[in-house]
Amino acid sequence: MYDVIVIGCGFAGAVVGRQLAEKGRRVLILEQRNHIGGNCYDVQDEHGILIHQYGPHIFHTNMKHVYDYLSQFTKWYDYSHEVVGNVNGKMLPIPFNLNTLELVYGVEKAKELEELLIKEYGENVKIPILELRKNQSKEIQDIAQFVYENVFLKYTMKQWGQKPEEIDPSVSGRVPVFISRDNRYFQDTYQGMPLDGYTALFDNMLNHKNIEVRLNSPANEFMTIGNKVYADGNEFKGEVIYTGPIDELFDCEYGRLPYRSLRFECEYYEKEHYQTHGVVNYTVSEDFTRITEYKYLTGQVQNGTTIMKEYPFSYSGKQGEIPYYAILNAENEKLYQKYVEKLDRLPNVHLLGRLAEYRYYNIDAIVDKALTLAEQL
Ligand code: UDP
Repeated sequence: MYDVIVIGCGFAGAVVGRQLAEKGRRVLILEQRNHIGGNCYDVQDEHGILIHQYGPHIFHTNMKHVYDYLSQFTKWYDYSHEVVGNVNGKMLPIPFNLNTLELVYGVEKAKELEELLIKEYGENVKIPILELRKNQSKEIQDIAQFVYENVFLKYTMKQWGQKPEEIDPSVSGRVPVFISRDNRYFQDTYQGMPLDGYTALFDNMLNHKNIEVRLNSPANEFMTIGNKVYADGNEFKGEVIYTGPIDELFDCEYGRLPYRSLRFECEYYEKEHYQTHGVVNYTVSEDFTRITEYKYLTGQVQNGTTIMKEYPFSYSGKQGEIPYYAILNAENEKLYQKYVEKLDRLPNVHLLGRLAEYRYYNIDAIVDKALTLAEQL
């Protein structure tokens, strides 16, 4: 009946499914939730505002082939993401940049410091906070300390339950200090939001005669992956692409892979806007990390507005909890590799995406990996 079974219908599963369908393979996609799109799923709330049910997802890439690929399934709303941090009521551009420097130190002092930073690192250069802190100059150290304390420390404690120096440097490095006046969160060549939303994009991508999507279908009800793959009671020799958490494939027999999860709280206001930017990070106060006001992201024109607060917590695996962020460190990587080794004897099972690969992928990276995998199969 099927040549390929894909488990999970987020970007990883949908792109690989579509590409294999294009090659003439019959693809079955099993999705345990009641909707497509994974964590990019968007939907109108009860007030008619389009929200991302699982937190803000903003598309940006330097990979033209990824942008072109997705452009087959959507037009784009031309959105450049900008974030400000609420630091004791003062709104500061994030990533910390030369505009932020001016707001913090005043025009004159900032000019001096700007010269110093440019002399040291050059213009338009991005420096991870942990690197900036190592600088020998007292004045640069002062800037680094300000950024560390006012942008990173509390936010990272909330998000990860750890200090910036305790988390993987690639994670804090996602938001470096930027020696520039560019207030955008991303400098990628291509950025924007799917004009009709992510769910519509997925609908278009999955609309193919060789693709069948089954919602409300936990993989383990249909198939088992042990020494062999069995689907619907029979040995399945086709390709299996698994995009879920790898430990769950093996009943977490070596222990659960740790993740951070999120609880979301939405509020609706009968006014045009709640805040000045799409996302405001609360970097020195509050229990939530950030507030997203979706109308900025989607460009929707509507009288009221919906905002979303994000409260991080440690994922426990309980029913209903969702693993969002892999916690990257050597110990967890070792545990992950133990599970990967178990799959080595099954060359037709492929791991793809944030969960299955235990990585911190952006959308474009997942799409790129899915395209590459589909080409190889
Ligand atoms: N971060 C921070 N303060 C900020 C923004 C980011 O401390 O105002 C740190 C924090 O540890 C966060 C990481 O940088 O988890 C990556 O931030 P990003 O905005 O890329 O996170 P995402 O949008 O993927 O949740």
